[in-house]
Amino acid sequence: MSNFRNRLRRLEREAEGERMTLRCSECGEGFTAYGDVALECIAYGWSKDTGEKGYRETPEDIKRLFEHEHDMDAFIETTTGLPFMDRRVTGLDLGGPLG
Ligand SMILES: [Zn+2]
Repeated sequence: MSNFRNRLRRLEREAEGERMTLRCSECGEGFTAYGDVALECIAYGWSKDTGEKGYRETPEDIKRLFEHEHDMDAFIETTTGLPFMDRRVTGLDLGGPLG
């Protein structure tokens, strides 16, 4: 049954399209996350800060990034070699207030 569920999950992810591979520059641990990763992280971080519930369940991939012992600022997006939270990677301007 779990094989089937894994396959289903993989199909879902293929439908979502985006896959991001990250590496922690502190310890070298690798991560793979799917979907709108930067956006999910921002949403999850925000909901943690404010105690508000997110608009939906946070994916395990994203939780794993937050649970890592090192700060997310240390994460490198492996295909570009740029910092994960760099706006060239996220496509988002994180310099301004997030509301
Ligand atoms: Zn690390």
